[in-house]
Amino acid sequence: MSSQTESNKNKISLDSRYRELGISEEVYRFGEKILDGLRERFARIDEIAEWNQLKVLQAMQENRVSEACLYGTSGYGYNDLGRETLERVYASVFHTEDALVRPQITCGTHALALALMSNLRPGDELLSPVGKPYDTLEEVIGIRQSKGSLREYGIMYRQVELLSDGSFDYDQIEKALSERTRLVTIQRSKGYQTRPTFSVDQIGELISFIKTRRPDVLCMVDNCYGEFVETKEPSDVGADMVVGSLIKNPGGGLAPIGGYIAGKRECVENAAYRLTSPGLGKEVGASLSILPAFYQGLFLAPTVTASALKGAVFAANIYEKLGFDVLPDSKQSRHDIIQAVTFHEPEMVIAFCQAIQAAAPVDSFVLPQPSDMPGYDSQVIMAAGAFVSGSSIELSADGPIKPPYTVFFQGGLTWQHAKFGILKTLQSFVEKRLIKELFL
Ligand SMILES: *Cc1c(COP(=O)(O)O)cnc(C)c1O
Repeated sequence: MSSQTESNKNKISLDSRYRELGISEEVYRFGEKILDGLRERFARIDEIAEWNQLKVLQAMQENRVSEACLYGTSGYGYNDLGRETLERVYASVFHTEDALVRPQITCGTHALALALMSNLRPGDELLSPVGKPYDTLEEVIGIRQSKGSLREYGIMYRQVELLSDGSFDYDQIEKALSERTRLVTIQRSKGYQTRPTFSVDQIGELISFIKTRRPDVLCMVDNCYGEFVETKEPSDVGADMVVGSLIKNPGGGLAPIGGYIAGKRECVENAAYRLTSPGLGKEVGASLSILPAFYQGLFLAPTVTASALKGAVFAANIYEKLGFDVLPDSKQSRHDIIQAVTFHEPEMVIAFCQAIQAAAPVDSFVLPQPSDMPGYDSQVIMAAGAFVSGSSIELSADGPIKPPYTVFFQGGLTWQHAKFGILKTLQSFVEKRLIKELFL
């Protein structure tokens, strides 16, 4: 059989597969047309994944990852070969002197809080030159009054807003660098804001601006959602610490918990003494039976991140074509895995999240509803039919029910699943008559 006939045959059976899962011919065709225009884009994403796959593999080989590294320890966790080797692997991947990679770091916020609290002392000042940080950090810093915040320990905070075009306000940053400034925190991803995400090169420029003026100031990057999206990481362009969550990109969907801090030896050491105890540091912290998931997750992370990126690009192209505001837009280069789509209609936010949930491997039969959530000033609807609770490297979406009615969409352990989820949202809009005809 010629390859042409073979591919036609595959197409036909795929079509009926989709039909069985409730995707109409019209919606499927629309998706395929959009995909036709994305081949080059996807090839570029695959190339970055290939680069990063080799980077991770090389780090594992050079650090002599062995079967014994997968066993784990209990109790105090002294001489944990697997934990120590994994931390060296992370240090190799991020090109840093050292790393702390632990299941005892409970989430991204915890990792960031740990990095800040352990590297700042009373009287020091923390500066964010990129505007407001991620919501949960407001309480860590004490922007919002909270127990145990940096502010309670006499660590002050300054913030410089971005310019209206999303670029750095170098004049104000220069002015904000005071005698007391000890640490600068730079959030790579836009998170759930509407500013652009920074590229690693942009972050590099900002860091060198700061270091030229104040070489003693530490530069930390909140790397959440950014890992493996580019071939470089912020630690390749001067960051003293990169920090993130293992239930996002670097856990590859397999890590069920955890966070990491990779950076200068002294920064990581400070964090270790804070995580465990002064005097104990990195020497304790049993890995129990988690190491296989951490290793294998990191191994898969470059391709999983690529799948999520393809999903984001596909969604941007579909919804831009249908006339909605998408951020990043269909053509923009990507520096994280989050896609925002603004619908201006609460019904569409709800239908979108419900369709993502309906596309999930877990809890697909659950119909999410908007509800009040701690820390939010409006109702929020969330879709997360995930193997790991709350994991946002898995296909997930959420939207606050307030103007301008924007949905934030991310993840997809496989591109095929991300694609199905997005087609499912489109199908739901068509069935609910929330959009008019699909034409290209
Ligand atoms: C997810 C995220 C965090 C916090 O991580 P959690 O694991 O949810 O605590 C911090 N910063 C950014 C940019 C994030 O995307």
